[in-house]
Amino acid sequence: MTVTNPPAPTMAPGMRRPPMRLWSLEVVGARDINPRMRRVTLTGADLNELDHKPGQDLVLQMPLADGTTGRRHYTIRDLDKAAKRLDIDFVLHGDSPSGNWARDAKPGARIDAAGPRGRVVFDPAADWHLFVGDETCIPGILGILEILPSHARGWAFIEIADASDRQPVTCKAPVDVEWLERGGPGGPSDFMLKRLQSFQLPPGTGHAYLIGETSNVRAQRHDLLARGMAKEQISAEGYWRPGRVGGHDHIEERPH
Ligand SMILES: Cc1cc2nc3c(=O)[nH]c(=O)nc-3n(C[C@H](O)[C@H](O)[C@H](O)COP(=O)(O)OP(=O)(O)OC[C@H]3O[C@@H](n4cnc5c(N)ncnc54)[C@H](O)[C@@H]3O)c2cc1C
Repeated sequence: MTVTNPPAPTMAPGMRRPPMRLWSLEVVGARDINPRMRRVTLTGADLNELDHKPGQDLVLQMPLADGTTGRRHYTIRDLDKAAKRLDIDFVLHGDSPSGNWARDAKPGARIDAAGPRGRVVFDPAADWHLFVGDETCIPGILGILEILPSHARGWAFIEIADASDRQPVTCKAPVDVEWLERGGPGGPSDFMLKRLQSFQLPPGTGHAYLIGETSNVRAQRHDLLARGMAKEQISAEGYWRPGRVGGHDHIEERPH
């Protein structure tokens, strides 16, 4: 398989992203929450000052085999500001820097992070909410479900390999959560698109949160646009794709 490094982010001339705050983090503990997901708990002296919205991520400076570090995006699954602790859930998708780091993470190990970042966050103006994602999106989707107000109506379609990837869901709102079992490894496919196509869009103004493998997210977005949803009603981000190392894909743009 060809592996490409993520390109430098492109921005319109004159535009400048505000610098992300840096956090020096230390591993407190790690445990498998199921066979393919490992939770690492980290602490940091100033984590009480970290303000984030569920669904947002940190850019970790992941140690690489050659002694350098590479940028990897990971969702803040949970943050306890008073205790200065946060949880990150790592998908163990194979022999990769982040998976290996999470497998080996021992108390006292350090890692630097920047953030928070990310625009796939709860839209309070929407009448209904549609969440679509694969394993890498479970921390984001479950985090947003936890803050949905009780009057919100929602649906969550979560693609997993098999039933062992399921997790308990905490949500005050009436949300239909479907765990869709592929029965094999993830990647580009029409598996989720077919489920999405059979979903009748409810009346009112909804918001769709489409995250996961880039080509899948792109196809899902096209489907919803073709069915009349406006671009502003869709938050979409490619979390990974075969051959890509770290980074993320803006779905509105052409693939890098
Ligand atoms: C905003 C955002 C939030 C994210 N949150 C999370 C999160 O909370 N938990 C999480 O586990 N991931 C999350 N991801 C996805 C994660 O950043 C990528 O999967 C990342 O590439 C993993 O780094 P790595 O070191 O394991 O593999 P890399 O070194 O980046 O890649 C090595 C190889 O593995 C492939 N690969 C990468 N990810 C996967 C995968 N999931 N399945 C199969 N093959 C893969 C690559 O295409 C490449 O060929 C998030 C991504 C974004 C953009």
